[in-house]
Parts: sequence; structure tokens; C-alpha cells
Amino acid sequence: MPSVSPAAGRFAPSPSGDLHIGNLRTAVLAWLFAHASGRDFVIRMEDLDRVAPGSDRRQLTDLAALGLTWNEPIVYQSARLAEYRRIVDELIAADRTFECYCTRREILDAPSAPHSPQGAYPGTCRDLTRAERVERRASRPAAIRLRADVSTFTVHDTLHGEYTGDVDDFVLVRGDGTPAYNLAVVIDDATTGIDQVVRGDDLLSSAPRQSYLATLLHHQPPEYAHVPMVLNDKHVRLAKRDGAVTLEDLAEHGIDAAGALSMIAESLGLASPGEPVTMQTLAARFDPAALPREPWIFIPPK
Ligand code: GLU
Repeated sequence: MPSVSPAAGRFAPSPSGDLHIGNLRTAVLAWLFAHASGRDFVIRMEDLDRVAPGSDRRQLTDLAALGLTWNEPIVYQSARLAEYRRIVDELIAADRTFECYCTRREILDAPSAPHSPQGAYPGTCRDLTRAERVERRASRPAAIRLRADVSTFTVHDTLHGEYTGDVDDFVLVRGDGTPAYNLAVVIDDATTGIDQVVRGDDLLSSAPRQSYLATLLHHQPPEYAHVPMVLNDKHVRLAKRDGAVTLEDLAEHGIDAAGALSMIAESLGLASPGEPVTMQTLAARFDPAALPREPWIFIPPK
């Protein structure tokens, strides 16, 4: 299936609350990577769960306040359920899946299969007979897992080079019928013309699973850039509870959107302290090879 739109990069927030400075910095980077390579830029709301009503609009307002631009329409995952179902049905028909009745606890307690990576699905439900499936279905709704035929996969990342990571029989559809993140992300990127994925490096270990699934769906995996995270003073991933970390909070401390962009730019080595910048200035200065490879430690104003 060919891509339907021109090549594009994307930012894919979960609309579960306001974006903090770490999310905003990743969005700025995603925009810069897309623009530097002549790609379009799209925003996708990953709203399959944990939605805070109205936060999608607030996130878009904050991104626009920094000067980000994007192609309309915004993609909402919740509007794409039929597409996910259609592709899952194709995978089922191709015998690429199996039903799984395990609880999280059962998976943790099961002895792992020989040679399989730590934490990988132990294969409990992979080869059940038809009669066993009928019996278990009666007691618990089934999740649908991918029948993976590799245990590792290699992706290319602009910042990390060749990265090989584990692939197991990961969940495609949860027991409650919700498409899993790994499924939706791959289908969305593949079918909306996304060929560049820039996101936090906490997701680097998911990229092999996602790329492998993309190849099973006959799509070229995207080019990746997993960028360093923003951490708090304890060197833990920045969170809302760390203090003044959203644009709204920062404004209360006298730092407006332009000031926040200037801080982000400085953290990326693209501006001197306090220097006013625009996205266009940053685009002119942007060089992926010169990006800092270390996390940014952000100390919120008090
Ligand atoms: N929605 C995910 C998040 O907010 C990002 C997913 C992705 O970029 O692939 O962490």
C-alpha cells in the first residue's frame, strides 16, 4: 500500500493535559527536523485513552504560540478506529495474530521462554487449541497479540545510528477492544504519509517493534530521531508535579511563549541566553549533527 500524502514529519501528543516544556521542546525539534528536510509537518492527537477534555485545543494553542505551523487537518486517533480494525482483520486473516487471555500478573509470573528477552511475552496463549480458546474466551475477554517471527529488529536512527531492540508477541488490541499504542502509531504513520518520526528517546526501545510491524504491513519503516529527554533536578523525566513547567505556569513567572522558545533554543545550542528567536531563525541554524546528546536538566522558576 503506497503512502497517500507527501513525506511528512509529525508530533503526536497524548491530549491528557497541558504540554510541559519537555514536550514542547520535542515538538520544536520535530518541526525543525521536518523543515530541515523539506517535509510537511502534521500533528496527531493520540486520544485513544487518558483524554482530558479540551486539552487538545490547549496543546495546539501552546504549539502555535511558540510559532509552530502544521498541515491541517489534525489527525485524531479516535476517528480512525475503523481503519485499525480493518488492518487487524487483515492480520488475523493472514494468521499473524493470536488471542491472549493472560492477565499482567500471569505474564510476570510465567517462566520466560528460553532465549527470549526479559519481560517478553512468554508465549502462553500462542499455540492453544481451538477447544482451549473457546474455554478461555468464556472466562476473560481476549487481547489480540502479534505472532512475531523475529525476536529482534534493527532500526536506523539519525542520532543513535543502527539500533537493535527486542520484538516479542506484543499486544495489538487490548482486552477491552482498544487498539494498542504500538498498533495505532504504526498504522497512522504508514497510512498518513509520515516517513520521519522525531520523539523522546524514552520511546527508542519501541521503535524495533513498530518498524517490524510496519514491514509486515508492507510499509517502509520511517526514519527515526529519538531526541534527549528533559529531566528535573533529580535527573528524573520532567513531569507536571515538578513545578512551573507549562506555558501557562511560566507566564505566571513572567516568561512568555517567546521567552520559553528562547530557553528551548538555548538548551539546543541554537541561541545565546535570553536571545529572542523565531522558529524561522532556528530553522536557519538547525544542524541535526550538532544537537546536544545529553538530556536537558530543567529547573523551574520559583
Ligand atoms: N503519544 C506519545 C506520547 O505522547 C508519543 C508517541 C510517538 O511519538 O510515537 O508520549
